[in-house]
Amino acid sequence: MKKLSFEEFSSRMLEIQKARKIFVESGLTNNISVAFEIYRDLLMSDEDKNKYPEMVNSKSEKTPFDGLDVPKCDECGNPLRLTINSKDIEGNTHRTAWKCKKCGMIYYSDKTPTEWYQILKGAENENRK
Ligand SMILES: [Zn+2]
Repeated sequence: MKKLSFEEFSSRMLEIQKARKIFVESGLTNNISVAFEIYRDLLMSDEDKNKYPEMVNSKSEKTPFDGLDVPKCDECGNPLRLTINSKDIEGNTHRTAWKCKKCGMIYYSDKTPTEWYQILKGAENENRK
């Protein structure tokens, strides 16, 4: 299983963010996977296309957050997954959100993915001492 480095992960997050800005916010599609595909096909150089064959595929790839002590869901105890630019029901966009895949709980946060990575990585180093 391939594990993305933090740099690879962040640059991909950035590309996904751009795709969202162009194609989701313009109302073309609500589906970020579709938006990313269009973005990739239309706007990326061939070199970048090879670098980003698809969005983070949770089935076959691990993100740098896997293996870190990520926050757990208060409802069911499931480890949460980090998402970026998440909209709440009032339509406010939050920089990041932690989502529970099992019961659908969402915890919004205004920290960036980098800040979260540093916090979680820091906590991990603390534990090892
Ligand atoms: Zn849950």
